[in-house]
Amino acid sequence: MAQQVLSALQMPWLRSAYGTLAQSVAANRLPAAVLLTGVAGIGKRTLADDLASLLICVQPQPTELGHLRACGQCKSCQLKDAGNHPDYLFLTANDKGTITVDAIRELTRVTAQATHQSGRRVIVIVGAEAMNSNAANALLKTLEEPPAGTFIIMTTAVSSRLLPTIISRCQHYPLSASPEQATDWLQQHQLNVDFNVLTLLQNAPLALQNFIQSEEYSQLQAFSALYARWQQGEKGALNELKELIAQAPVERINWLINWVSAEAKQAPSPLASQLSQFYRNLLNSRVVLSQSGINQVLQVEKVISYGVLVNRE
Ligand SMILES: [Zn+2]
Repeated sequence: MAQQVLSALQMPWLRSAYGTLAQSVAANRLPAAVLLTGVAGIGKRTLADDLASLLICVQPQPTELGHLRACGQCKSCQLKDAGNHPDYLFLTANDKGTITVDAIRELTRVTAQATHQSGRRVIVIVGAEAMNSNAANALLKTLEEPPAGTFIIMTTAVSSRLLPTIISRCQHYPLSASPEQATDWLQQHQLNVDFNVLTLLQNAPLALQNFIQSEEYSQLQAFSALYARWQQGEKGALNELKELIAQAPVERINWLINWVSAEAKQAPSPLASQLSQFYRNLLNSRVVLSQSGINQVLQVEKVISYGVLVNRE
């Protein structure tokens, strides 16, 4: 489904991070390397792109909220929007899911040359965790001694997969949304979401927006209804859940994990410990399911058989 292009300022949960970054740009204090982190669908790429646009623009304009943003009119903005700005470089994983050392070497080669337009050069690396160790080491040299006027903006949902030496050379901006921010924003887009789904996708509004409009969401709603029947003591509902999970075990086992975990936290004590045990079985099962050569249907059968032991009387 085609999504309209939104700016970070249209995403309330990104405003304060954008504001901080824009102020740093205005004061010429932006660190040469910025790392934006947060779960998938939080808007890291949007924020990276807006920041890059602001750096590239030669006549930034203030918004009603007082933030400085790219004008969208000047020659630099037009070149960037057309994908032709010589001082704007964008990098993300290739078809194989990797950012290669060759790609980084090409970046550093360009970075060593003089800039063309506003005197600034901006490199955006989306999904920086896709750099293999050779690529990361090649980038490290540029991060250690960035040429004047060069800014590197990286994003990642899994900063644990970045080299510590990379992380330590970046100014870190963690991004997140509260359940209220996610719910409000989705409602503005005529979308409603229940609490279970919010937690499942860690309140990431853009991920939620995509998910709610997907076929998978109707499956999740069926799942939720079955879970409620099981909660009310209907053991047969668990068998129907099993069939739903078996259709896409690796993804949907997470649904059950999420529900059982939430319920275990609220249940009275004998039930809570049984649910916690079931939860641990589910976590183990998730590990097994992700391995290759596993009979997934059998594995789902097995883990659900633990659920049957939960006594809800
Ligand atoms: Zn401009």
